[in-house]
Amino acid sequence: MKTSIATVSISGDLREKLAAIAAAGFDGVEIFENDFLAFDGSPEEVGAMVRDHGLEITLFQPFRDFEGLPEPQRAGAFERAKRKFELMNQLGTDLMLICSSVSPAALGGIDRAAADFRALGDLAKAHGVRVGYEALAWGRHVNDHRDAWEVVRRADHANVGLILDSFHTLARKIDVETIRAIPGDRIFIVQLADAPKIDMDLLYWSRHFRNMPGEGDLDVTGFMRAVAATGYDGPLSLEIFNDQFRGGSPRSIAVDGRRSLVNLMDQVRRAEPALAIPVPDMPDRIAVSGVEFVEFAADEHEAEELGALLSAMGFSLVARHRNRDVAVWRQGDGRGINLVVNTSQEGFAHSSYVVHGTNAYAIGLRVADGAATVARARALGAEIFAESRGPGELAVPAIRGVGGGVIYFIDDALARVWDIEFEPVADQVGEGAGLRDIDHVAQTMNYEEMLTWLLFYTAIFRTAKSPMVDVVDPAGLVRSQVVESDEARGGGAGLRLTLNGAENRRTLAGHFIAESFGSSVQHLAFATDDIFATADRMAALGFKPLEITANYWDDLEARFGLDPATTERLRHRNILCDRDAGGEFFQFYGQNFGEGFFFEIVERRGGYRGYGAPNAPFRIAAQKRAIRPKGMPRV
Ligand code: MG
Ligand code: MG
Repeated sequence: MKTSIATVSISGDLREKLAAIAAAGFDGVEIFENDFLAFDGSPEEVGAMVRDHGLEITLFQPFRDFEGLPEPQRAGAFERAKRKFELMNQLGTDLMLICSSVSPAALGGIDRAAADFRALGDLAKAHGVRVGYEALAWGRHVNDHRDAWEVVRRADHANVGLILDSFHTLARKIDVETIRAIPGDRIFIVQLADAPKIDMDLLYWSRHFRNMPGEGDLDVTGFMRAVAATGYDGPLSLEIFNDQFRGGSPRSIAVDGRRSLVNLMDQVRRAEPALAIPVPDMPDRIAVSGVEFVEFAADEHEAEELGALLSAMGFSLVARHRNRDVAVWRQGDGRGINLVVNTSQEGFAHSSYVVHGTNAYAIGLRVADGAATVARARALGAEIFAESRGPGELAVPAIRGVGGGVIYFIDDALARVWDIEFEPVADQVGEGAGLRDIDHVAQTMNYEEMLTWLLFYTAIFRTAKSPMVDVVDPAGLVRSQVVESDEARGGGAGLRLTLNGAENRRTLAGHFIAESFGSSVQHLAFATDDIFATADRMAALGFKPLEITANYWDDLEARFGLDPATTERLRHRNILCDRDAGGEFFQFYGQNFGEGFFFEIVERRGGYRGYGAPNAPFRIAAQKRAIRPKGMPRV
């Protein structure tokens, strides 16, 4: 599998782009003419620079408004093409993209276009180059790959081929199965892009909202399965026009791009086992059956405060690490909820504490096979995490995650870590407060990073993302998107993550990122089967819930037609409520711990699938009231 990416997909000047593309492991680049024109160097120098990075130029583009012109414009188009072919010789590339004409002067006619391409094929041959024809979704006469293929077929010239672009085909909802009838050797290059489903002008959608395969809503896998069936074995090239990417980090966008291609081809290989698709072998996407633990880094003083809060939630200190300053708090039957508090003065936890303050820096996921999980993550370019171990300590496989955090993988064999590395604490275990499991983990990040982490989670794990929703913070929008494992989506135990992208620092989420210097886990939600009993038990233990404004329940009573006694039961305990087609949801929150971290308690009844999103503005308002004295701007 040969991977390529268009220079237009990432930010920076040409030199920065090439460095980022090479570092991410691509084989080639599409050079956009504008990137070349803006660069202070000759075509030969640009070509040499590309090759110095170990890359090849897979394509030079774009060449517009070529086919179907009357004279004298037709002769002018050939003259322009000749100049570009000479430039391509200097750059050292042999393929040029010609997109279907949008010129009002173009006459149309498949045979006229084919005749133009046949003549251009002779000119290309004389220069030792090839041309590929791409149907733009908004092309004047040709806007469908089937018509572009017919032009290429009738041109019947070895130097003229077809270029397929997933966006142009999928945006127009053209049946991808039609690609299977095209000979693979007549396809000169395949361009790939995804996009979120938005109903808008095709050109505007394409130029601003494309994203990496797997980040959007288009069936790029279906498109690529059809391409693979043709026998095409040339480069797979990302051509992503996205305003955010053009302002983002070139390195991380390039890494995302390469990850998206490897993940895509792995999916295609699994979906088309009869085709010999050359993709690095790796384990299939990993099923996650739950969160085994969450680990906090803290100093001793804050660890005490955290411990008091955990006690008030019914957790018991059950074990301490044999060699390190690490304590385990537990609640619930079976494997239950494990919260680890690490106050070591060395190692990664300590570094994390120094940077972020007390924070939930690590998550342990329950998987069937920890080693296989790391193998897949590594194949997808994730950063492997390893720490030096003391004698007798287990090597728990891990990778780096959002916000510089760590994700550990615990399979059944590794779950022995609790017995091997930890010494039970003699104190008796309390009766708890009915908290059973971790319902979800909420991670906050800058909005620009959301797609990166969505792709990360959905490529490595057997999870799917929900549509993005906007959460209104009085100071700005926070975008929220849910990632759930198949099991969790079916209502069972599994992985549920809510990712929140903050656009500015004045929102609660943005405040949390700024004040914790980019920490990611902003809240943890625990599940109970009886939220009223849990709330009462926690109140008896000294837990202080987040106080919600009284107006909320008046509105709720009206909205859901609650009887006054029920409303009072909720109001009394600061429990919020939501409903969907499947069932009911109850939730209450703790107060802020540090700079905006908090705990949440939830009860799902029936088949409720959501996270109480309609209640988020009330929660945020209450939290902002609580932290305003510490310098939060009034909004
Ligand atoms: Mg294209
Ligand atoms: Mg929540």
